[in-house]
Amino acid sequence: LPSRRPAASNGTARSAPSPDTSSVINLDQGDPTMYEAYWRAMGDRCSLTISGSEAMSYLSNPKGPCWFLLPELEKSIRRIHRLVGNAAAEAEDGRYIVVGTGSTQLVNAALYALCPRDQPEPTSVVCAAPYYSCYQEVVELLQSKLYKWQGDAHKFNKDEPFIEIVTTPNNPDGSIREPVVNRPNGKVVYDLAYYWPHFTPITHQADYDIMLFTFSKCSGHAGSRIGWAIVKDKEVAAKMTKFVEVISIGVSKDSQLRAAKILGTICDDCQGANTKSENFFDHARRLMTERWEKLHEAVKRSESFSLPKYPKNYCRFSGEFFETHPAFAWLKCNDRVKDCESLLKAHKILARSGSRFGADPAYVRLSLLGREEVFNIFVERLSTIKIEISNGN
Ligand code: PMP
Repeated sequence: LPSRRPAASNGTARSAPSPDTSSVINLDQGDPTMYEAYWRAMGDRCSLTISGSEAMSYLSNPKGPCWFLLPELEKSIRRIHRLVGNAAAEAEDGRYIVVGTGSTQLVNAALYALCPRDQPEPTSVVCAAPYYSCYQEVVELLQSKLYKWQGDAHKFNKDEPFIEIVTTPNNPDGSIREPVVNRPNGKVVYDLAYYWPHFTPITHQADYDIMLFTFSKCSGHAGSRIGWAIVKDKEVAAKMTKFVEVISIGVSKDSQLRAAKILGTICDDCQGANTKSENFFDHARRLMTERWEKLHEAVKRSESFSLPKYPKNYCRFSGEFFETHPAFAWLKCNDRVKDCESLLKAHKILARSGSRFGADPAYVRLSLLGREEVFNIFVERLSTIKIEISNGN
């Protein structure tokens, strides 16, 4: 952790009480609270005062293609991508930034922008299973005439327009992915929420038509609800902007200012501004590595589960070789158990069943992004679960 120690948490509604060893632990949601300790130790370096008269107008940049995007945030977003090397985001190269209330809003905006209007049927939206469970919810919620959920991209064989969402590294299983449908008539949205050097080696600079990122997984500030899209086509960027305009007349400026400040601080520290402590990415990668080591150890002790294997690659950002350390564990129960979610629930561990991701319920997704004390209880509990292997009698 950074050396500067913070004032202790004051125990208000902003911070959760520590769980005791017998309580139910919830690893269903990917709430990135594990990074709170890092940011607390940063003291006031990311604090920001917004006076009563500031950030009042709806407008941020009336001449820009995304009129509600604050120039400060735009600058920080382009800077962090330049520094990390994970995505092509330069204005000079014609890349537009659209900000959203979380990247969840931008999934909606991208679908709205990409669906052709001249089709008799709603456009199919697909994603290779196991897929992030929220896509299906987003697509089905309003029963739109523009698009319909068609599930697993591997099974999509219709000769009609479609949109494929490619999540890489993938939520829930951490795999590195490419589109699977690869037919004309298709458009691809890349959800790169986890393409940051604390989760996976940065092997190349992504440069796709639409790329989605989120502040939630980059720095852990999910509560600010900031996401952004990098878009090549000006018209698509304009349609996405229109969507956010109609749904919410823009995005909180208070949150944008905070995101700009924090992303800027991460960049400053990566460029040596703070010699006393680790930069955010090095710190977060070390933590993720430690968690995965503990998890592998627990799985080994239990002998009842298995985990996917991840490739080791060279990271252009850190200059090191390392394995992907996904934000979630995609855990499979051994063959005797058909419903892994129920098994874990009986041991007071709440997980999300594989069936929610279009996969087998022998799998579950468990968040590894929670607070340290919760994570430690989880691995301890997991290591003691023994699935009886009968001898067939
Ligand atoms: N895409 C993926 C793959 C995610 O895992 C998440 C968050 N769980 C999101 C998008 C949405 O993030 P946000 O908090 O920005 O809405």
